[in-house]
Amino acid sequence: AIPLVVAINTSLAARNGILVRDRIAMEDARNLDAIIFDKTGTLTEGEHGVVDMATGDGVDEDDALALAAAVESDSEHMIARAIREAADERGLSASDASDFEAIKGKGVRASVDGNEVYVGGPNLLTQLDSEIPDNFQQFADEAGEDAQTVVYLIRDGELIAAFAMADVIREESFRVVDALKDLGIEVAMLTGDSQDVAEAVADELGIDTVFAEVLPEDKDKKVQELQDQGKLVGMVGDGVNDAPALTRADIGIAIGSGTDVAVQSADVILVQNNPMDVVRLVKLSKASYRKMQ
Ligand code: ADP
Ligand code: MG
Repeated sequence: AIPLVVAINTSLAARNGILVRDRIAMEDARNLDAIIFDKTGTLTEGEHGVVDMATGDGVDEDDALALAAAVESDSEHMIARAIREAADERGLSASDASDFEAIKGKGVRASVDGNEVYVGGPNLLTQLDSEIPDNFQQFADEAGEDAQTVVYLIRDGELIAAFAMADVIREESFRVVDALKDLGIEVAMLTGDSQDVAEAVADELGIDTVFAEVLPEDKDKKVQELQDQGKLVGMVGDGVNDAPALTRADIGIAIGSGTDVAVQSADVILVQNNPMDVVRLVKLSKASYRKMQ
């Protein structure tokens, strides 16, 4: 039978927009040692806009943007949407692209006018065995310092343009991090984005533990890393990419607007898409436990 106090508090949680799929999670939440947050779309709004771009010698900005938009035309990623919007705003029509391929956690690839074209971040450059050319280094450094995500356009093996995209930290995230720290919980951040962007965001929020440039298939290993230190670990995320980490965590918490896969992998679902509900979950769990004793 379900202990009465837990039943009451699970429905209390539900009324607060906290759906508990695994009742044990509700009991365990009071003992969490660490909570890992996905960065993009969880701690930040996840709405990137292209704020700056750079092109190589002899490469026209509009041509580069139109080409990038063509390669991104098949992608649902927020970065893809931002690039398509930037091209739209300039009234550019995307060229025809074919043979789309999404490279998870890295970028996208397509054929355009007989060229093989890629758009993606640092993880993609690593895969292509390509480095940031000197003429793009300063652009990348400055964008990184401003916590802007940079993706690169590579045509037939040559890096011809870079795009800087700005995302904003959600207002609630500051209070969430402070409140969890006050409860004695370690706060960590996990992202596929670059090290400098991750650190800039973590610095602002006061997060000490940062896992950056993590490929989707490695995200659960970072959860394990903290568990191996003997910690009870919660994971908060929204994306398909976060599902294995949500499963691996002692308590997986999906943010309501998240993908179905994330929701199905989670023990707890925050329906209102408010990260502050993570704090409420821990507090509700602590309150129920005290009553049970
Ligand atoms: P996150 O962990 O922030 O949710 P993802 O795993 O979705 O990030 O992506 C990690 C990185 O891979 C992005 O920061 C970007 O550099 C690159 N990337 C992923 N998808 C795309 C895309 N459609 N276009 C360009 N870059 C992409
Ligand atoms: Mg995400």
